[in-house]
Amino acid sequence: MNGTRLTFIILCISIFVKSYGQLENYKHQFVNPLRIEQSLSGNFGEPRSRHFHTGLDYRTWADGKDVVAIADGYVYRVLVSPWGYGMAIYMNHPSGHTSVYGHLSKFTPEIEKFVTDLQYKNHSFAIDTVLPQDMFTFKRGETIAYSGNTGFSEGPHLHFEIRETDTEHPLNPLETVYHIKDDKKPEITKLFVYPLSEKSIVDGSNYRKEYKLEKSNGVYTYKNSMGIGGPVGIGLAYVDRMTGTTNRYGAKTVKLYLDNELIYHSEVSELDFEKQRCKNSVFDYDCYLNDKLHVHKLFVEPNNDLKIFPYLVNDGEFYIPDGSNGHVKIEVYDYAGNVSEVEINLSGRDACYDNIVQSKNLLEWDKSYMLAEEECRVEIDSAVLFTDEKIEFKKVKEGKYSSVYKVGEENIPQKKDFLISFYLDDEFLSLADKMFVVREREGKFRYINPIRSQRYISASSSYFGQFYLWVDTIAPKIKPKNISQNRNMSNNSYIEVEIEDNFSGINQFDMYINDVWVLGQYDPRKHQLRYYFDDKMPKADSYKLNVVVTDNCNNVGIYEVDFRY
Ligand SMILES: [Zn+2]
Repeated sequence: MNGTRLTFIILCISIFVKSYGQLENYKHQFVNPLRIEQSLSGNFGEPRSRHFHTGLDYRTWADGKDVVAIADGYVYRVLVSPWGYGMAIYMNHPSGHTSVYGHLSKFTPEIEKFVTDLQYKNHSFAIDTVLPQDMFTFKRGETIAYSGNTGFSEGPHLHFEIRETDTEHPLNPLETVYHIKDDKKPEITKLFVYPLSEKSIVDGSNYRKEYKLEKSNGVYTYKNSMGIGGPVGIGLAYVDRMTGTTNRYGAKTVKLYLDNELIYHSEVSELDFEKQRCKNSVFDYDCYLNDKLHVHKLFVEPNNDLKIFPYLVNDGEFYIPDGSNGHVKIEVYDYAGNVSEVEINLSGRDACYDNIVQSKNLLEWDKSYMLAEEECRVEIDSAVLFTDEKIEFKKVKEGKYSSVYKVGEENIPQKKDFLISFYLDDEFLSLADKMFVVREREGKFRYINPIRSQRYISASSSYFGQFYLWVDTIAPKIKPKNISQNRNMSNNSYIEVEIEDNFSGINQFDMYINDVWVLGQYDPRKHQLRYYFDDKMPKADSYKLNVVVTDNCNNVGIYEVDFRY
């Protein structure tokens, strides 16, 4: 082994030691965030639709379970939102970590009062506020809140994270004290071989090829040798299971050896919110979009800069010379250290087609492009694509407010959004503030938040597909649920209305009693807006309720009713 290579390997090892396993040293400082028995419905690093899961999802079975501080520390941020984490608490700890507790139903009374006061002060249900160090401090194991199902949550659970405070990078909590019983190995279902150049061939084809693996003597194998020519990469579909549950989890570590030499190693111990879109480069986006199958590509595309690869040779891409044989071994480890193995044989073939006609519309990932046709223009910045891709841009047909344009294929993943703009025709100028760009998918229209500048209506899109201009001139609908004209509400603890918008979506919602703003709590999953009677309601002999709801195209819905109390 020559000196340079040795230095390189030592460098790799030292980087590895620095950036992985940060939480192991804190094993005895943290307690569990719940007092009930630990059961996970989601684990750290598992692939979701467009991101990696950044924490643990604990089953809570019902709302209202005590959520406790995992270590001494103070509440540094409180969040209330109809979306995302719903009600959440962020705590900072002296160890340099931040713990996050999401989808809560309630805070402790002191925090609850602080939050309500702030909501009234801001006239806003949604709040996101940073607090001074000495405001709310807790000891390890003290109750800080109660579990719930608020925000984007599909059932009562606690979303729990541990982050490095300085970088806000989520770390894997399972590296600390949180022992979850797990003696089940990852299950491997399919293997894919990807031709990685226009010359490459996999068993006679220049397209990704799927192989069904069989398990013999505990190892997953394929009965025949696969014929490959030119540079290729391997993809693997697997799921992890844990003892006593039926959930599917992600794996922690994957290693690929070519003829006993490690060429690919991924390890998910630390994530980065800025790089979450890279999930669709690590996992085959087309397989996910079309078959909801997560196929881990064991090669790294040029614009994927996630820091989850402690060791790579040629980014995991390899070839077998014509007439030679190769042996590939893959190991998949879960977070408890259970491992499954795959072994396959490959035979080198002559790679070349006689002639390769360079495809049109090939965009290089590290260059920027402006595509323009008639009233539409598309700006694709460098680093939008993970690798070079064919992006077709063309007018598909005429439309009502603009023509319909196709930009690329929707199975092409993006690391960043691209910008699409339409120049507004004279006859629609008066509708400019109701106009927006839609993306059409399988007959469904997706509203994209418009950027309006002079006569251009633009949108920043995270998907390729078909686009055109549309308008929303219809106000949100407001329907009373438990109130009616002159009804006596004394026996109710709240007023409820149903709010819904047909197209661009609800942007703002406000409730007023006798012209005084009161706190309306919005649950978008149930289209529910509720005011719980509190001491902020003005005292009067007669009462009038106003509900004002605005959509994203500035259409305003109003509901007014008199009631007694
Ligand atoms: Zn979660």
